[in-house]
Amino acid sequence: MRIARFTTGGDPRYAIVDGGELAVLTGDPLYMSVQPTGEQVSLDRDDLRLLAPVIPRSKVIGVGRNYADHAKEMGNETPVVPMLFLKPNTAVIGPDDPIVLPSWSAEVHHEAELAVVIGKVTKSVSAERALERVFGFTVANDVTARDIQRAEQQWTRAKGFDGSCPLGPWIVPGLDAEDLQVSARVNGQVRQDGRTSDMLFDVATLVAFASEVFTLLPGDVILTGTPAGVGPIVHGDVVECEVEGIGVLRNPVVRRD
Ligand code: ZN
Repeated sequence: MRIARFTTGGDPRYAIVDGGELAVLTGDPLYMSVQPTGEQVSLDRDDLRLLAPVIPRSKVIGVGRNYADHAKEMGNETPVVPMLFLKPNTAVIGPDDPIVLPSWSAEVHHEAELAVVIGKVTKSVSAERALERVFGFTVANDVTARDIQRAEQQWTRAKGFDGSCPLGPWIVPGLDAEDLQVSARVNGQVRQDGRTSDMLFDVATLVAFASEVFTLLPGDVILTGTPAGVGPIVHGDVVECEVEGIGVLRNPVVRRD
């Protein structure tokens, strides 16, 4: 099943993606039980826009250096415990929304990642029970101002700016995330091509670890780290992040200054 959030000009609505159609739902499946309204909307409609499938009410939790080959390409040791950081919910944008490069960075990178969407209030869950708290999975681009990340001790500015967290195109519940291809293309050229089986800390471990630190709320998102091959994106580029079994998250890149 694929759960999308969309608009045809009015308020955002949720739907189940059914072939080329959206079967519209009565409410927000992250926070309430929902049913089909009976309305079908074609994905081909000119006025249809897919939106970020979730706007976290409280937080996006990032995980640094969770693939050994990426840690190595950045000249870093692999961490012994998950290295967490936060992105505010104002960083989230949806499919086809432009990534606006910040005026104060000259080197912005793509990072294709599997994203975990939390479904239940969760505190101190064990790794064995952690997947029961997951609503589903989507694709993320952990857009990073690499020059700022190198220059500053805290990653808040480098990874938390507006538009630095594209999410989409939809949420897939019940996916087995242990060994999925994670890739990024820029203007059609492959830049990243890894597998979630190469994560240092798997999804269950990350949910459990994060829940020891924070109370996880429905709609919170955990980004699970990026494989090797990160690199710059510039004005005019189109970046596509893809996770096997979910889909392609596509965003144009613009510089407005
Ligand atoms: Zn990342």
